[in-house]
Amino acid sequence: MADKRDYYEVLGVSKTASDDELKKAYRKLAKKYHPDANPDNKEEAEAKFKEVGEAYEVLSDPQKRKMYDTYGFDGPNMGANGGGYYSYGSGFDGFSGFGDFSDLGDIFSSFFGGERRGGSSRSRNTVSKGADLKVAIDITFKESYIGVEKEISINRNEVCTECGGNGCAKGTSPTKCTTCGGKGTIRQVSSTLFGQVATQRTCTACGGVGTVITNPCSSCKGKGTVKKAKKLKIKIPEGIDDGQTIVLKNEGEPGRNGGPNGDLYIVVRVKKDGVFSRRAEHVLCEVPITFTMATLGGEIEIPMVDGSIEKYKIPEGTATNTRFSIKNKGFKSLNGNWRGDFVFTVIVQVPKRLTTEQRNLLVELAKTMNEQPPLKKKGIFG
Ligand SMILES: [Zn+2]
Ligand SMILES: [Zn+2]
Repeated sequence: MADKRDYYEVLGVSKTASDDELKKAYRKLAKKYHPDANPDNKEEAEAKFKEVGEAYEVLSDPQKRKMYDTYGFDGPNMGANGGGYYSYGSGFDGFSGFGDFSDLGDIFSSFFGGERRGGSSRSRNTVSKGADLKVAIDITFKESYIGVEKEISINRNEVCTECGGNGCAKGTSPTKCTTCGGKGTIRQVSSTLFGQVATQRTCTACGGVGTVITNPCSSCKGKGTVKKAKKLKIKIPEGIDDGQTIVLKNEGEPGRNGGPNGDLYIVVRVKKDGVFSRRAEHVLCEVPITFTMATLGGEIEIPMVDGSIEKYKIPEGTATNTRFSIKNKGFKSLNGNWRGDFVFTVIVQVPKRLTTEQRNLLVELAKTMNEQPPLKKKGIFG
């Protein structure tokens, strides 16, 4: 990612560019670099086209733009391709991706001559971002505390390697649609009360593409893509909370006609732990202590989430349900370099069984404490 150009630079606009300026710049560049408009240096054009598309995708989305302005390519970025970012909660609504592309169809359709990608969708002649994918991953409480790398397997469409994505059998190419003569639309003139009215409708024979695949690729049956199981390594950062989402850019379904890939949303689910729980960045826990420890005070050893041991000195005269905290032993914050605390509540245990010796000792003790403690102001009679 080191050679990635600044998105504003890519679009040739200032950092304060308005949505309108962004759109204008994008339209101009997308037109200029569209692969079909650059038959002589297709590869270079396609790379530029994708770069422009990616820059626009980020900058046209207020949330993504803010992330980019704040963190650049790095910062909260992460993932198998190093290009992801976190989003919090279940806020999928915020990322509409290439929602703006539909009204750009008119620009792109003018470039698509006879050569089109195969596919059965009616929108296959427009450039569009691939679909986003969403998967869930389960991790343990400890893994959420210390961070973990997981391998996940996803089923997604990938460009067919047999035909390179055009859907045609080897050595063949799509042929001009005879129904619409390659125009993709059919003009109909009908007589009405107001005279003759011409309407245009999309050609159903070719789905508006203008070409048909007569010899479909045997591997993808003409679709241009095949479903493949793909394994991905996911780095889950320490401190992630249940329900938070990791986004891997470009790991979704492939885009159409040079459009960017969709994104992969990974919802992290943290399993409940029998001992520890979480509130914000704090770890909560109950620690049983004996009634003699509560009375006399003393040092106890407390296991932390990561398995290490912390010593803590319980003061004498500690009542049950008293809370103590050990600073900076909670969860690491995803947003900064700080940690929550380890907050524990002591539960004083009253023994149900005593040896004769212990019992005698307590009886002696009780004799010295024969006063009944005063009732609290709001006691049972209050
Ligand atoms: Zn194929
Ligand atoms: Zn047709």
